[in-house]
Amino acid sequence: MAATRTFSIIKPDATRRNLTGAVTKMLEDAGLRVVASKRIRMTEDQAKKFYEVHAERPFYGELVDFMTSGPVVVQVLEGEDAVKRNRDVMGATNPADAEEGTIRKAFAESIEANSVHGSDSDENAATEIAFFFSDDEIVG
Ligand code: UDP
Ligand code: MG
Repeated sequence: MAATRTFSIIKPDATRRNLTGAVTKMLEDAGLRVVASKRIRMTEDQAKKFYEVHAERPFYGELVDFMTSGPVVVQVLEGEDAVKRNRDVMGATNPADAEEGTIRKAFAESIEANSVHGSDSDENAATEIAFFFSDDEIVG
């Protein structure tokens, strides 16, 4: 199967604990290559728009506050079946349900502060990559 791309965020709970390298190593060990990366502080507008799909959920407001509470590292990851490969190494949304060997099992603090975001489909990956990166920032 050909390489595909997905979009990842190392969330504020992980950057705060200096886990950028540890999380990235787990992504790389899972067969994903970082082809774009930048550390940013998301604005409230960006966070609201990025998580718009969850706007009606009860946790939306707190999630926006959390995602803007500190720096994040946004990344484009490339690999075979990148979306699934990344979701597999991330683990379940709630760390209490995450399997051994996953990033969320290893590092997540709570269902909200769960260390990483990963796109859930090829279509959403393309949208999310374009939300944060221009083509010339992605070097495969
Ligand atoms: N989230 C939350 N409370 C919940 C469910 C989700 O705070 O009950 C947060 C959490 O940070 C999660 C994000 O909202 O990663 C997006 O939720 P989604 O269901 O898309 O989970 P994911 O795709 O990140 O596993
Ligand atoms: Mg999701």
